[in-house]
Amino acid sequence: MNAPLPAEVLKQHLIDPEICIRCNTCEETCPIKAITHDSNNYVVDPDICNGCMACVPPCPTGAIDNWRLMVRAEAYGVQEQLGWEELPGEKALPETTAALPADDAPAATDLAAPAPFSAPGATVPPWSAAHPYVNLYTHKTPMTATVVGNYRVTGADTESDIHHIVLDFGELPFPVLEGQSIGILPPGLDAQGRPHHARQYSLASPRDGERAGYNNLSLTVKRVTEDHAGAAAHGVCSNYLCDLAKNDKVQVIGPFGHTFLMPNHPRANLIMICTGTGSAPMRAMTERYRRRIDTGENGRLLLFFGARTERELPYFGPLMKLPRDFIDINLALSRETGQPKRYVQDLIRERAASVRELLADRNTCIYVCGLKGMEVGVLDALHDVTVQGGQDWSILHDALRREGRLHFETY
Ligand code: NAP
Repeated sequence: MNAPLPAEVLKQHLIDPEICIRCNTCEETCPIKAITHDSNNYVVDPDICNGCMACVPPCPTGAIDNWRLMVRAEAYGVQEQLGWEELPGEKALPETTAALPADDAPAATDLAAPAPFSAPGATVPPWSAAHPYVNLYTHKTPMTATVVGNYRVTGADTESDIHHIVLDFGELPFPVLEGQSIGILPPGLDAQGRPHHARQYSLASPRDGERAGYNNLSLTVKRVTEDHAGAAAHGVCSNYLCDLAKNDKVQVIGPFGHTFLMPNHPRANLIMICTGTGSAPMRAMTERYRRRIDTGENGRLLLFFGARTERELPYFGPLMKLPRDFIDINLALSRETGQPKRYVQDLIRERAASVRELLADRNTCIYVCGLKGMEVGVLDALHDVTVQGGQDWSILHDALRREGRLHFETY
């Protein structure tokens, strides 16, 4: 009698629905469209996924990094995963897979080696970054924060209704670092009768609190009233947050993020490139530097900040009061009456000499945050200033990624 053929083993890639904050990063990152979602879950199609790992580093929560050894024919299908509330446990493999012991089963990383740098930015933090806490509070165990401040940081007569919102955690721990984000669980149900999924916001305050020494943090939130195509749309979470009153309670999860972190060593320089509310992490990092201005440890700060007009640029007043020898501010205004349309990438080219000088210093880290569309423009501008200086951008770009010195957070 012939022995049964060993069953084919698959290291199945799964997303943990209890930790996933449904931010869509994995679906956007997957180069072969193996990730899909419905109103309940984000899931990986076992028939498409090749384990390339491109989606793993950008995931803010680590929910993406779950694997189960399965007989391929019994792999969890897309429909089944969409209905999950939690991940299933490990299953024992049948005897017939003995010819392929678990330890020798194909690791996801073996299935297809990832391109060395498929993402535009680094997937590791700068070498001197502080170690972040992540996922302390989840959908099932959210933290309740209290609103202690909520005010508008754009001109009252403008369309851009952007709020600075301060949340306090009282006596409960919520340790954060600049560049990290949190999730907000808006109350109520979506059109399918399910609780709204979490929305992610970057911290606008430094690690020691919006007010130094207090257990609080701040967010920069734009009230969403239209979609990217300009059609009317009601942003569930942004409207909820912008309408909060002092002493209201908010359900918070997180913190998230382990790569978009600032360097911690003396004389580290920061090039910060942002649009609109993408200024939140830049405010956090700038404030971290401002609070230690007297230590003499700060490196240089070079900021490129894009907004439609001065009055629509969040934090315009306080930003312009910062000393010029502390931060080099470059504002790109795209719709200011009587001025030509400028984007941050135009200013990067105009300031090529300063950008090149900082890029040549291995103590410089670059942070890009804001609209997705700026990513390509910023990379092109960095390419151009480097090449004009007689250098090879692809070599520098690889070094910046390998050394955790170029970071993107765009939506
Ligand atoms: P916005 O007002 O729509 O745009 C800001 C500026 O960017 C405008 O001057 C705009 O010019 C310009 N811009 C448009 N396309 C560009 C491109 N391809 N390259 C360079 N500049 C471009 O910005 P927003 O509504 O505040 O949006 C900010 C983005 O940041 C959102 O996508 C948000 O999700 C994201 N974000 C927010 C947070 C947060 O914590 N709140 C954190 C991270 C990221 P035009 O005149 O052409 O429009």
